[in-house]
Amino acid sequence: MRDAGASQWSNWSGCVKAQPGQQLFPRDLDELRAAIQGARGGVRVRGAGHSFTPLNATDGTMICLDEMAIPMVQVLAPDDGELRARLPAGASLNALSAALQAQGLAFRNLGDIDVQSLAGATATATHGTGREFPCLSGELRACSIMTADGDIRSVDAVSSPDELAAAQVSLGTLGIVLSADVHVREAFKLHRRAQVRPYREVLEQAPSLWRQHRNFEFFVIPGSDYALTLTHDETDETDAPDIAENLGDDHAGLQKLLWLRNTLAWAPSVRRWILNRVLRSERPAQQVGTSWKLLASDRRMRFHEMEYHLPEAVGLTALDEIRSMLDREQPRLFFPIECRMTAADTAWLSPFQGGARISIAVHVHHNDDYQWFFDQLEPIFLRYGGRPHWGKLHSLGRSQLRELYPNFARFEELRRSLDPDGRLLNPHLAKLFGEAAGA
Ligand SMILES: Cc1cc2nc3c(=O)[nH]c(=O)nc-3n(C[C@H](O)[C@H](O)[C@H](O)COP(=O)(O)OP(=O)(O)OC[C@H]3O[C@@H](n4cnc5c(N)ncnc54)[C@H](O)[C@@H]3O)c2cc1C
Repeated sequence: MRDAGASQWSNWSGCVKAQPGQQLFPRDLDELRAAIQGARGGVRVRGAGHSFTPLNATDGTMICLDEMAIPMVQVLAPDDGELRARLPAGASLNALSAALQAQGLAFRNLGDIDVQSLAGATATATHGTGREFPCLSGELRACSIMTADGDIRSVDAVSSPDELAAAQVSLGTLGIVLSADVHVREAFKLHRRAQVRPYREVLEQAPSLWRQHRNFEFFVIPGSDYALTLTHDETDETDAPDIAENLGDDHAGLQKLLWLRNTLAWAPSVRRWILNRVLRSERPAQQVGTSWKLLASDRRMRFHEMEYHLPEAVGLTALDEIRSMLDREQPRLFFPIECRMTAADTAWLSPFQGGARISIAVHVHHNDDYQWFFDQLEPIFLRYGGRPHWGKLHSLGRSQLRELYPNFARFEELRRSLDPDGRLLNPHLAKLFGEAAGA
């Protein structure tokens, strides 16, 4: 198996850096078993490195499944009639979407991007938006896991419901997920519409827009009185190219917002006036195409991010308070604030366990300071009963997490039974679970 040695590793945004002693790329199950059993120091298995929290950081052994040879898609025929596919957990969501499409199938929903690995995305409860759709972990019906001692366990809702509820959102602490049985559907097309509208109007109409559209989300544009709404609805129309002018290109839009921030940082009221004028003149954009190609997009401008998931009843009130705080305290912010909704699921560590939640995400340019996320933003999220996205910046530790998750202690007990020596823990995870990091 390939060992990339002790070179430095960094996550996508650059806010997490690590120097693993070994970086192993096993090619089959025997090599994977040898990697985990013979690992030097603590062991972390990574996906595409798109988490902002140091879930993958280790000075021991980092394992990556990119070179594993396994079948892409096995279509299953479960007794309950649900469409399901067995997928290799280390593969990227976009490779899996293409492979599913070749079988006439598709993921029911996706987040903003699709370059994450399936296992990485489910490990942190990665979500998109839509009243009817749970996060990806909520679509997971069974999986196969190689534990720290090299054993392989099959986990499903009938024979091991507790293990499944834990494995759906595991932060990579139960073992290496090899494959996952995922609820999918027939391939489908979407009609996507993007439109700039007054912020107050969007805030007021958001609950009904979530009911009307398959997928609805909006982006509050800092320093302006506007928001960008994005809807996706199922369609049979023939594919239509993007007829967007400016709205179709996220990257170009961000570059303009950054330029305006840099040029007019000295005069926020002038910036607001110009921004409002520009935004008022934006024409709506629309596009028809394959579901996974429209749901996920390219994120070329690197950023750091904090996202909390809030109870549905208070999510929009919290957003309004956050917007006022940001206007007052963070005039340099230019990245739109993203607001989405995700349906409930039952995974023990899912932020959506117990009820649908509204997610609010704040981003800063990768060169900008983000300490204020913790000082100014996180206290508001917490006051409204928010749960952090596991893969995005947060400062919570065990005592707060035990308050937020009714099944946290059950997860801890199961985790300890599968990895009693904490070999799969690093300092970040040890803080979350109140344990010593694996040596
Ligand atoms: C540009 C960008 C856009 C994003 N958009 C969204 C979004 O729309 N919605 C959303 O919810 N999140 C979003 N995220 C966050 C992202 O989806 C999560 O952080 C996700 O966990 C990243 O997946 P990954 O494959 O990069 O995993 P990594 O970050 O590499 O790892 C995440 C966790 O998964 C574990 N893991 C990885 N592989 C395995 C395995 N085989 N077995 C067991 N555990 C494993 C790791 O140990 C780690 O704990 C975004 C992040 C970025 C940078």
